[in-house]
Amino acid sequence: MNNVVVLGATGSIGTSTLDVIARHKDSYTLYGATAHSNYFKMAQIIREFAPVVVVMTEKNACEELRAIVKSEGHKTQVLFGQEALCAVATSEEVDSVMSAIVGSAGLKPTLAAISQGKTIYLANKESLVMTGRIFVDSARRYKAKLLPVDSEHNAIFQCLPEEEQALIGRCDLPKASISKIILTGSGGPFRELDIVKLKDVTPSQAVAHPNWAMGKKISVDSATMMNKGLEFIEARWLFNAKTDDIEVIIHPQSVIHSMVQYCDGSVLAQLGEPDMRTPIARAMAWPKRITSGVKPLDFTMLSALTFMKPDFARYPCLKLAIEASNVSQAMTTAVNAANEVAVGAFLQGDIAFTDIYTVCARVAEKFVLASDDDLDAILEVDLKARMQAYSEIAVL
Ligand code: NDP
Ligand code: MG
Repeated sequence: MNNVVVLGATGSIGTSTLDVIARHKDSYTLYGATAHSNYFKMAQIIREFAPVVVVMTEKNACEELRAIVKSEGHKTQVLFGQEALCAVATSEEVDSVMSAIVGSAGLKPTLAAISQGKTIYLANKESLVMTGRIFVDSARRYKAKLLPVDSEHNAIFQCLPEEEQALIGRCDLPKASISKIILTGSGGPFRELDIVKLKDVTPSQAVAHPNWAMGKKISVDSATMMNKGLEFIEARWLFNAKTDDIEVIIHPQSVIHSMVQYCDGSVLAQLGEPDMRTPIARAMAWPKRITSGVKPLDFTMLSALTFMKPDFARYPCLKLAIEASNVSQAMTTAVNAANEVAVGAFLQGDIAFTDIYTVCARVAEKFVLASDDDLDAILEVDLKARMQAYSEIAVL
């Protein structure tokens, strides 16, 4: 039996993970689940899965949930706060942790789980982007297995030779005869919009992704293609790849989830419906496979598969993220932090869609020379970059 903790259980990835667990209750137990404020959904999770413990990080939501648990007579313990996230993720009974909190809030519990050698199903790319080498070195030191959930990285993982799959975080691509990793992305909802109209797009237009149903933050990141920039950095760390080893290609149909090109000219691709239950099931069952509830692709219903180079004038955030990763960890951390603040401001209607880039770029340039030696230095960069982002928003 695999005792699983789902960090971010009420979100889009969390819900898909619980769907997979529900199909395999003989192999997986939901030991713990966490959320921020959605106590209504957490109460449903408790009724269905009866986890040993849940955590809410918003005080009122925690009180509401405790009242429901008491009145309905559930045995589940309800804890509050950030420290409790780490406590649950590191419980001795826990085998694996689905890291699916959105944004930097996922960092501490994920690192805590790594430090106890848990198997990590990694959806929360921001925690890896924020800390880079610290994250992968920590996984190596504590023998915590990293299994990528992000659909592109899971696709690449599936196209790697078995020996490399066992070495996530320290792959040797040349030794495996791999000449390129090809990261695909749909280009988001504004792929064909007149560039001058980008400044006027609304949050509801930005979160309406053409192919995937996801949380709001990653949906906006997909529209700016900052998501692909973060994924570029994620791929560098997971597959120990250099900048030149990775190519980003726009593939609007989201049928191919990414590819690996070998030195003999062969290209291996992973295809499937755009449904996160496939990569989640692949990560959770590795090295085996389990059913996920995802219907197979119907090739006769597919139109053409098309591919194009990303246009950096349309997607400057993609370029910025790649450049930052070539400069330093501090600049990368700063871009990630500024993006989180800017996307939040855009979703609240405080700034324009195109201001997301402006804020990130202005913050990034202030952190070129910042220190990035250890976790404390990185956390300081993250905090200062957020404050700088708020200042930049104020003077837009
Ligand atoms: P959602 O916004 O749907 O869910 C986020 C989850 O995190 C919710 O459970 C939410 O709780 C919880 N949460 C939010 N803020 C905090 C906080 N401050 N402290 C603790 N918990 C918090 O996000 P997604 O599921 O879309 O994305 C989760 C992660 O997975 C992201 O890092 C994203 O980049 C990555 N990812 C997502 C994909 C997708 O298809 N959705 C694909 C690939 C990667 P509550 O509901 O109570 O607010
Ligand atoms: Mg992805």
